[in-house]
Amino acid sequence: MDARLPDGVRAVDTLDPPDWGAFARIAHGAVDRAIARTAALRDRPVWRPIPQAVRNSLRQPLPEEPTPLDRVVDQAWDGVLDYPMGNTHPRFWMWYMGASSLTGALADFLAAVDGSNLGGGDHAAAECERQVIDWLRQIVGFPDGASGTLTSGGSVANLIGLTVARNRMAGMDLREQGLAALPRPLRFYASDQVHGCHQKAVELLGMGNRALRRIPTGPDCRMDMAALARAIDEDRAEGWQPACVIASAGTVNTGAIDPLPALADLCRDRGLWFHVDGCIGALARLSPRHAPLLDGIGRADSLALDPHKGLHVPFEAGCALVRDAEAHRDSFALHSPYLDPALRGIAAGGWLLDLGIQTTRGFRALKVWMMLREHGTARFGRIIGRNIDQARRMGAGIDAHPRLTRLSPVTLDIVCFRYDPGGLDPATLAALNAEIMMRLQEQGIAAFSDTTVHGQHGLRAAICNHRTTDEDIDTALAAVVRTGDELAQVPIHARPA
Ligand SMILES: *Cc1c(COP(=O)(O)O)cnc(C)c1O
Repeated sequence: MDARLPDGVRAVDTLDPPDWGAFARIAHGAVDRAIARTAALRDRPVWRPIPQAVRNSLRQPLPEEPTPLDRVVDQAWDGVLDYPMGNTHPRFWMWYMGASSLTGALADFLAAVDGSNLGGGDHAAAECERQVIDWLRQIVGFPDGASGTLTSGGSVANLIGLTVARNRMAGMDLREQGLAALPRPLRFYASDQVHGCHQKAVELLGMGNRALRRIPTGPDCRMDMAALARAIDEDRAEGWQPACVIASAGTVNTGAIDPLPALADLCRDRGLWFHVDGCIGALARLSPRHAPLLDGIGRADSLALDPHKGLHVPFEAGCALVRDAEAHRDSFALHSPYLDPALRGIAAGGWLLDLGIQTTRGFRALKVWMMLREHGTARFGRIIGRNIDQARRMGAGIDAHPRLTRLSPVTLDIVCFRYDPGGLDPATLAALNAEIMMRLQEQGIAAFSDTTVHGQHGLRAAICNHRTTDEDIDTALAAVVRTGDELAQVPIHARPA
């Protein structure tokens, strides 16, 4: 900027604070408030509807003129941070996500202050990511020398694994030639319980949804091995090239774990790529009591896991691991003249962008590194194990109650069930359970989601939450019954569906 600016405007604009001491006071105040808020989470409702005035405050014109930082921070608290999703609360069990953590939040702040671009370069942040990848590799039992990268989450981690699978199994230079050059179309297999991100992945990979064959599951929601073997034979006979099996190590619906050792054997014997979606289950390897459920996971060719679930680092952090480091690089590395490696200096560090989709990458590793350092793997194992115990507790409470029905076995930390007073048709029963779910959310008591398992609708608790206590489980289940009993008294037509 120049000297023609009006009085009171600094001659040289910068984004640094005009008064470092004042900035420190505002920042410390925000930290204090964040800590107090988190310490008192249990006393807050799980969730609150957003008042219209707050919504309106988020529909303002583009700000052209400055606002003092202390006012901006206040506006953020009152207009945004006071109405969160609720997943930090001890009784939030919707979908499947982490409950975040203050250490992780502190790490995100420090990572942003560091400011490094994890696309690559020779700096300690990049070394920190390599360290974190190596730790995660050890947790799942991948061999030394396997490759990996931190991603925005499990969806991209799975996309990376499936990309390497597609490219390697094509047996030609698919990056150059494209799918049209394949003599036979590739086919991937997953159970009918597979997470939706795999459909998006095969669509994005140009293979089409049809290339992902869904294999039926039994009442235990695990892939039917005989049906898989038959499907592979059928497809071969019909001109497909069976290429990859995607195992779910913890399905999103019920937490079922596909038979990993049998799938690893089948993939080895038939020359297929073995990908494991471990977004829910992989980190349960940290619980010695539950690690045997995941036997075989370390035999995968590629694996997705999700530190922003089981490790409770703030969003976002997923991780893709690939056994064959060269296959991983071959799928994403490019030589760009503007990114030439140097012999020394900042550009000598190698390119992490050669392991994934993004060019610029955030410093996600620090929050994982700090969380693992502060707590150690044993504590995470105990928390994951406790969540699984709590799911079993909820399952036992359901089994013991005459008006609650469990819809699937409890394997990990997910419980599917419904309130069923008897005598209702399926649509009314589904509306009743959805109404229970919405009321418990609106009353701030507990957050369940709903789903359909093998055609049966019900509520679902995914207890991936380091703050949940056994009392929370009992309180929430009692609230389901109380609300269900109240609603079941009301004539059906009077009930908002
Ligand atoms: C959460 C999840 C995903 C997607 O991961 P994101 O981190 O949400 O992108 C994929 N598969 C399973 C089994 C999951 O639970």
